[in-house]
Amino acid sequence: MFEECANLIKNSHNTVVLTGAGMSTESGIPDFRSDKGIYKQIPEVVLSYSYFLNNPGDFYEFIKDYFSKSNVEPNIGHNILSQWEKEGLISYIITQNIDSLHQRAGSNNVLEVHGTMETATCINSSCGMKYKTSDILKTMNYYCTDCRQLIKPDVVLYDEPVDKINQAVKIVYRADLLMILGSSLMVYPVAQLPQFVPEGGRIIIINNTSTQYDNNSNVLAIHKPIGESLEEINKLLHI
Ligand code: NAD
Repeated sequence: MFEECANLIKNSHNTVVLTGAGMSTESGIPDFRSDKGIYKQIPEVVLSYSYFLNNPGDFYEFIKDYFSKSNVEPNIGHNILSQWEKEGLISYIITQNIDSLHQRAGSNNVLEVHGTMETATCINSSCGMKYKTSDILKTMNYYCTDCRQLIKPDVVLYDEPVDKINQAVKIVYRADLLMILGSSLMVYPVAQLPQFVPEGGRIIIINNTSTQYDNNSNVLAIHKPIGESLEEINKLLHI
């Protein structure tokens, strides 16, 4: 199983990685849909744009609480992916995560399809003043100092368009191997990306639980933790 993964990576001309919240659970950030996931604490609606507009205080209380618990560092999986980029083994990481841990591990080619928690922007399009989300969380003053409109973290909330999806499709369309790590593949439109792997291309899915794509003929699905799986594959790549 891991030998097959290593061989697929060695023989591929363009390996692209797609990561989800499961990539960061080993750093201590909970995912959404697991037994210990965020949706066991809050309803999905809290992370929607309409909820944010109507209840900005509740929204910011949630993310303050969420990020105060996560004094986190990149984990072994993030570090191996960063090393693989430097070795030319992978070309791109498309991530659904908003935690910047790939970049902090040293990966350069990262497309954050759901945005980032690092920065925030005034929602008044004629203002668009930029802030650091950490500064807002310190004071909990989430109204623009310039125009008094709401400031929103630069993340894609439910009921907002995923503007970067076309860029992600183009990246996947050039891949001959897509490696998907820690995603339930239930959140659209990202969940459609495996369908854009070109004819003859292969997909590796490493996820604790099964996904809708596991039984496809071009998929190798591994139900094991990401960290130990990537460590095994990494050893085999460097024999
Ligand atoms: P998800 O919660 O729907 O799925 C995560 C999957 O990862 C689950 O199927 C789980 O079984 C698996 N998993 C968890 N830890 C694992 C591990 N160590 N090894 C192997 N598998 C593991 O998450 P999703 O598919 O990414 O969709 C949720 C959306 O929520 C994302 O689009 C993202 O924007 C957002 N989100 C981001 C973060 C973050 O930035 N760290 C955290 C939570 C949610």
